[in-house]
Amino acid sequence: MFKLENQVALVTGAARGIGRRVAESLADAGAQVVLADFSDWEEDITEIGKGIFGVRLDVTDPARVKEVVGNVVQRFERIDVLVNNAGIVRDNLLIRMKEEEWASVIATNLNGVFFLTKEVVAKMMRKRYGRIINISSIVGQMGNPGQANYVASKAGVIGFTKAVAREVASRNITVNAIAPGYVATPMTENLGEKAKQDLLGMVPLGRMGSVDDIANGVLYLASEEAGYITGHVLNINGGMYM
Ligand code: NDP
Repeated sequence: MFKLENQVALVTGAARGIGRRVAESLADAGAQVVLADFSDWEEDITEIGKGIFGVRLDVTDPARVKEVVGNVVQRFERIDVLVNNAGIVRDNLLIRMKEEEWASVIATNLNGVFFLTKEVVAKMMRKRYGRIINISSIVGQMGNPGQANYVASKAGVIGFTKAVAREVASRNITVNAIAPGYVATPMTENLGEKAKQDLLGMVPLGRMGSVDDIANGVLYLASEEAGYITGHVLNINGGMYM
């Protein structure tokens, strides 16, 4: 598999689910990985495992994002890989959707990606190297009823990825998105049994995605070997959307 020795990675929303597995897999490849999440861990960067560090971060808070990114660079001297993974859902039909449901999803899923990327890109530019991987969603490409807020945020992430990819390519920084399909995580475990079966019926490969399926894609896009790929949206969805 791909090697990330001597590299430093920052993964948001990494306390559980996809982010957690992504962070572990980057660490297994040899990177020092800082896991940032909303409610877990201390304010200061704290070692929680071999090559794995935790820090408390709310991605919707730009001042705190700046502080954490500064602290990571102060401690590790660089950030080679950024994985913008933190995301939330607040599902409702459009006519019932409250402003708060709209605003909170945009704040976390889209504004958070902007705040993190802006701070980290500035550090990557100085090193003339970087890999940014934004976790979008299949629904950002195909739409989904009851998720106008979430779909808008995830489609926004794809547009943002392509714009920034063009902006920073000359500095040897790649920016890509991953669009997962239906993955078994705490985010999806509350779906009803019927909804799960209906979703599964739409997946040609006939199973839910695993956190490993997504982590393998992130590891590839984070690797030096993926250096000629930028502005790409990698579908990891079992064929649910082609
Ligand atoms: P989970 O809900 O399992 O995990 C998300 C993590 O993000 C949680 O640890 C959560 O912390 C954290 N988080 C939420 N808000 C913030 C914030 N403001 N700042 C920092 N951390 C935050 O989600 P998944 O692992 O399922 O999803 C990960 C990403 O993949 C998301 O962007 C999601 O939209 C995307 N995705 C998931 C799919 C799926 O089927 N699971 C499909 C397509 C895309 P806390 O628990 O404390 O709130």
